[in-house]
Amino acid sequence: MEINDEQLAMVNDQVKRLEKSDNFYGKKLREAGIREVKSIEEFKALPFSQKQDLRDAYPLGLMAVPEEKIVRIHSSSGTTGTPVIIPYTAKDVDDWAEMFKRCYEMAGVTNKDRVQITPGYGLWTAGIGFQAGCERLGAMAVPMGPGNTKKQLQFMQDMKTTVLCSTSSYALLLAEEIEKEDLGDKIYLKKGIIGSERWGEKMRNRIKGELGIEIYDIYGLTEIYGPGIGISCKYECGMHYWDDYIYLEIINPETGENVPDGTWGEIVITTLVKEGAPLIRFRTHDISRIIPGDCACGSRYPRIDTIMGRSDDMMKIKGVNVFPKQIEEILATFDDLSSEYQIRISHLDGKDTMRIYVEATTGLVDFAELAEAVAEKVKARIGFTPIVKVVEIGVLPRSEKKSKRVIDERFE
Ligand code: ZN
Repeated sequence: MEINDEQLAMVNDQVKRLEKSDNFYGKKLREAGIREVKSIEEFKALPFSQKQDLRDAYPLGLMAVPEEKIVRIHSSSGTTGTPVIIPYTAKDVDDWAEMFKRCYEMAGVTNKDRVQITPGYGLWTAGIGFQAGCERLGAMAVPMGPGNTKKQLQFMQDMKTTVLCSTSSYALLLAEEIEKEDLGDKIYLKKGIIGSERWGEKMRNRIKGELGIEIYDIYGLTEIYGPGIGISCKYECGMHYWDDYIYLEIINPETGENVPDGTWGEIVITTLVKEGAPLIRFRTHDISRIIPGDCACGSRYPRIDTIMGRSDDMMKIKGVNVFPKQIEEILATFDDLSSEYQIRISHLDGKDTMRIYVEATTGLVDFAELAEAVAEKVKARIGFTPIVKVVEIGVLPRSEKKSKRVIDERFE
């Protein structure tokens, strides 16, 4: 989707401001001799921003306004190296709440809803984003934060929570707990707003079925406000994103070239009005595509598809590019398998090997036969034969955090 005149003018304002600032991107612009952006071609010539640039700017090298204007920082998880610090002005905080309010509205949440928020609060952007949008909408926030499933379920019953905000794996864990404790009649949930993880159709259907709720996927990343820059609508055909706050491009992750609408590639985001830490052409490493055409819901906001994975968790096995999501989609075609799985990739006797662990939902099937059927389907769709091991339901690890379903032992 080409950048329009209005968006271009906003980028130009940002570029002119950054070029004069101490911000890391200002330095990039000066090095490239770029002072303004007047055309699509000039936009496409702007250098990318990378996560590493943001790390190198630690602690406050992203700040693009005088410090008096900064009211808050957030930080992305620093599990691998230096964390990234994102400074926000009062307007940034306000804009984010406004976008998040739109997300709730897109999901049909109203000021009569009670919204149980289970993502974490603090430096992380999740909890506080869900909270600010909820308050902006006028709904009742139940700010639980993560963990303590027993207490979550107690509040869910006593507060008659109607909207659950969580990760997909935590929603599944809650659904399983509700079933186990036979609490179905005491739960008033109508909608789930689920974020931050890649997840398959089967897992989504399980959560929907077991909780009897509608599900909305929310998109966002700490570097660009946080969750709330896009959400799916009730037609479940990708996620609408707010193109008056962000400009979104899809590129070929290997060449950096823009790809046509409808083609899969890496999401690159430019913030249009951010003050504290504007980002120009930030490479997210999330894989998706622009969905061409209008949505049945009538929203004018453009759409991206469900996130297929990370360009960096693309697995190269025996020379073939594989995304975990492709395996997920194959597993979803088997009625006797749960939505949980684990992939282990190792290098044995000079060859790459993929082992897939899956769970049978019933003891009434022949595990060996089922394993063989899965292996055949992977071979047919992807081009190599994995080793498949079927285990009993409940054996694979569930997590309250982002699940780590792919373990690559080749580089350990
Ligand atoms: Zn729609």
